[in-house]
Amino acid sequence: MDWQTQIAANLEGVRARIARAAQRVGRDPAAVTIVVVTKTMPAEVVRAAAAAGLADIGENRVQEAAAKRAQLDDLAGVRWHMVGHLQRNKAGPALELFDTIHSVDSVDLAAALARRAAAAVRVVPILLEVNVGGEATKFGLPPREEVLRAAVEAILALPGLRLEGLMTVAPPAADPQAARPAFRRLRALAADLQSHYPQASWRHLSMGMTDDYTVAVEEGATLVRLGRALLGERQR
Ligand SMILES: *Cc1c(COP(=O)(O)O)cnc(C)c1O
Repeated sequence: MDWQTQIAANLEGVRARIARAAQRVGRDPAAVTIVVVTKTMPAEVVRAAAAAGLADIGENRVQEAAAKRAQLDDLAGVRWHMVGHLQRNKAGPALELFDTIHSVDSVDLAAALARRAAAAVRVVPILLEVNVGGEATKFGLPPREEVLRAAVEAILALPGLRLEGLMTVAPPAADPQAARPAFRRLRALAADLQSHYPQASWRHLSMGMTDDYTVAVEEGATLVRLGRALLGERQR
């Protein structure tokens, strides 16, 4: 089977599972956008994913995304999402490559992005990454109301950015249900921020990956970031 046929078949299954998860909690499945995470996959896979109907492409490294995009000059109508850790000194290149940044994990990074965005006369949608599990190995702001409120207060004062919500990567676990508290926590943190900063939209919760996306949808995810569920296992 070629890539496009394989991805289209996987996508059908994923959409059905999202629809059932949304139904279980009375949500509209159309409120969930699938971001296909194409890291480690060649440009032709991105092209096949787009042809299969996936218009939101996620990458986690600036350099890899740059190499792929150079081969996809003619690919129109897709949005590029940065989902991996971003270093401050890559803010400029990242903005040239990505439409939206899910992984803003410090006020310093937000400020670097804001400077570049304002210089380019752009308004860039961003999400704040929260390390809900508090894992030492993960990036993200700590899951504490005071810390997040202070970060949001500072970020809302910056030009060139539009804060649209929160993002998290749940701690790895064999049982998808184990991710539920993390997703609930992210939703609760967003609700707290919404009550203090209603001027931001708080429309997005970017949460849920291949192993736990149906649970994330039940807990309110609006953006699920899927690699293996759509593309199969990554080569190491
Ligand atoms: C790789 C990655 C994903 C997708 O992971 P799968 O388990 O393959 O679905 C999602 N989010 C981030 C931040 C990633 O790095």
